[in-house]
Amino acid sequence: MQHPENNNDYKGLTVNSGVAQPPMVNPYLHNRVRRKPMPTVSELVEGILKGDVTTLSRAVTLVESFNPSHQSVAQEVIEKCLPYSGQSRRIGITGVPGAGKSTSIDVFGLHVLKQGGKLAVLAIDPSSERTKGSILGDKTRMEKLSTHPGAFIRPSPSAGSLGGVARKTRETVVLCEAAGYNNIFIETVGVGQSETAVHSMVDFFLLIQLAGTGDELQGIKRGIMEMADGIVINKADGDNIHRAQLAQAQFRSALHLFPPTMSGWTPEVLTYSGYYEIGIAEVWDMVDRYFKFVTDNGYFHERRRQQARYWMKETIDEQLRRHFYYNPEIEQLLADREAAVLANKQSSFTAARDVLDHYFAKFKTSK
Ligand code: GDP
Repeated sequence: MQHPENNNDYKGLTVNSGVAQPPMVNPYLHNRVRRKPMPTVSELVEGILKGDVTTLSRAVTLVESFNPSHQSVAQEVIEKCLPYSGQSRRIGITGVPGAGKSTSIDVFGLHVLKQGGKLAVLAIDPSSERTKGSILGDKTRMEKLSTHPGAFIRPSPSAGSLGGVARKTRETVVLCEAAGYNNIFIETVGVGQSETAVHSMVDFFLLIQLAGTGDELQGIKRGIMEMADGIVINKADGDNIHRAQLAQAQFRSALHLFPPTMSGWTPEVLTYSGYYEIGIAEVWDMVDRYFKFVTDNGYFHERRRQQARYWMKETIDEQLRRHFYYNPEIEQLLADREAAVLANKQSSFTAARDVLDHYFAKFKTSK
């Protein structure tokens, strides 16, 4: 129909046709997945005991969270899972970056999974706080394992002190064991303090080494070698085989100089190739021999008892530190006193006493 305003005789107001309605600002608004409510403690425990991976992951996320309400749920879940834990072989794996940890864990993991059961791969990487992203435990580094239904790979908790990161990994071990993971690998970079933390939560500590880097024993802290239950020299393939064997002989003679181990086990030195999958079964035979040896002589349980005690003390230490240092009042006072000490206005000891006195007084009144 012709609009009246188009008629030349039309004198009235005109009406324009207007514009089409714009689409909704977010047309997908209604399709958005709603956030699931936080599961209850019993839902989490039930899911974990059933071996449900999604529930396990959620529980681990709560363990890693700094949110106090997440923390308290996590602690309850851990407590309830504890009676179902402990039934795994906990194996620590260390080596400098480039030693071939990811490649080796991929093939060691598949080897272990062929024997049945499940495998959790965890990591302790204290540097991840600095790099704002974990370099360990990244799924893409373990291609074969990451698609295996029996494997659960979790990167290192990414923030906090080494003690905090390690405690969270230790707690994750409990959850994984309750979920039926009977093999736990804990990976760490062999360059610093984190080995001690890993050593204190595993039954067997494997040190991956490389040959052909000049002085074979250079760069490895004596302490790390002393902790190792097995030393394996990777990349024993191609032209490198001879050098790997040479390194094997050197490590063997170096180990002779060390005091006898607490377990009574003599650490073995083997060569293998993670990439070409040579000697994998031999490495794992050694691990099996170790477990039989320490189970027979009772050291297996003794070490776990000592570790339980260690973790109790560590946890107290860590929580006390957090409670103290993350208190805004204390932070301020510490900064003031530090300035006074640096300006030579106060001695270190009276400054420390002032801060501690303040802390204890505050603690007394606030509780
Ligand atoms: P990570 O840093 O200790 O985790 O080491 P990666 O597993 O990432 O390995 C570092 C490099 O060494 C990669 O380029 C691997 O392909 C290579 N590599 C690992 N294992 C072997 C091996 O058995 N033989 C050879 N020739 N190369 C290997």
